[in-house]
Amino acid sequence: MVPENKIKKRVVAILGSTGSIGTQALDVIAAHNHFFELELLTANSNAELLIQQAKKFLPATVVIGDKVKYEEVKSGLSSLPIKVFAGNEAILQCVQNESIEIVLTAMVGFAGLAPTIEAIKAGKHIALANKETLVVAGEIITHLAMENRVNIYPVDSEHSAIFQCLTGEWKNKIEKIILTASGGPFRGKTIDELKHITKAQALKHPNWSMGAKITVDSATLMNKGLEVIEAKWLFNLSPEQIEVIVHPQSIIHSIVQFQDGSMKAQMGLPDMKLPIQFALGYPDRLKSDFPRFNFLQYPTLTFEQPDKKTFKSLALAFAALEKGGNAACILNAANEIAVAAFLADKISFLNMTDLVETCMLKLPFIVSPSLEDYYFTDAETRRVASELVKN
Ligand code: NAD
Ligand code: MG
Repeated sequence: MVPENKIKKRVVAILGSTGSIGTQALDVIAAHNHFFELELLTANSNAELLIQQAKKFLPATVVIGDKVKYEEVKSGLSSLPIKVFAGNEAILQCVQNESIEIVLTAMVGFAGLAPTIEAIKAGKHIALANKETLVVAGEIITHLAMENRVNIYPVDSEHSAIFQCLTGEWKNKIEKIILTASGGPFRGKTIDELKHITKAQALKHPNWSMGAKITVDSATLMNKGLEVIEAKWLFNLSPEQIEVIVHPQSIIHSIVQFQDGSMKAQMGLPDMKLPIQFALGYPDRLKSDFPRFNFLQYPTLTFEQPDKKTFKSLALAFAALEKGGNAACILNAANEIAVAAFLADKISFLNMTDLVETCMLKLPFIVSPSLEDYYFTDAETRRVASELVKN
């Protein structure tokens, strides 16, 4: 075994270090500082936390997306040898820094697309938390990764589970994969009961503590829909090969069924630090002190069909996957506007899905979109969806 002080450290960038995934990634890095070195941290607007993180981890560079916060971050770090930049352009530049080996994309939404593209073009491996990037432009991203010989390691727990099950099975044919879903806080509720759901209710997930957008997506089941599309691109599957099963305890994180009928599942207590650590440390399994699963505390693991009629988002995502082209890009942009409007108390819980459905009918379909087409589709969908929110 190589002694700890002789291991060449893996150089990491974290985009979105102040969020739920970003902060947990820093916990992982702190626990394995003999294995990882931090080169870059970026955040959108939380200057205070970014400064605190930079002081603790001493990355070479930090970028704050919001230019108004530049002076605050700059003066907060003035006594340290840390380069400070601001603005989205700077994120695109800094992600290409030569020493970076792997980029954790932990920002939320469509904003993750451009930096992920720049990182791949610069030959960086990607630990992908920002599922929206693959939902919007999965075909372009996966081609680009192949061209640049870059690996995309999934961070999403379900996709990490599939990836862990596939390790050592690369040549074996997958019959199908089964993504598990907790069902969210409103599992079992009827449409009538969902009419008056409040923001506070939607923001309480039973098993996971996450950022606001993904928590709302989990309540509508849109998150599972986005994950179905994410799985298609990560594992090169057809829509018929992807199944969703509700498993309220969130212990089995997903399952692969091979062509001989054998099924492999990955399980453990719900804790995002494990998939983050697996993606950043691959192929090594680093030691952890995360709480261990005990069968006796979970004598019953249960499974049920998702209710796609009540939680229409999941059906809409499957429809977008079947349709291809820019359909998933429309779905994603409409959903981002819908979630933001719901969180701003402008539309109701059920209106979110209606808004996405209307946009999918209204926006022009493009069969083989270019990257420019995706940018156009995203902007147009946001414009149309925002109009619909006002009316
Ligand atoms: P979050 O809202 O907690 O954090 C988002 C981070 O991104 C913050 O650091 C923020 O500063 C940064 N950010 C936001 N908008 C930005 C922009 N326009 N430009 C640059 N940076 C920006 O979100 P989260 O829950 O950590 O989720 C991050 C991503 O990971 C999402 O795509 C989500 O779907 C995915 N994911 C999250 C979890 C989870 O447990 N939280 C699990 C699976 C996948
Ligand atoms: Mg997930």
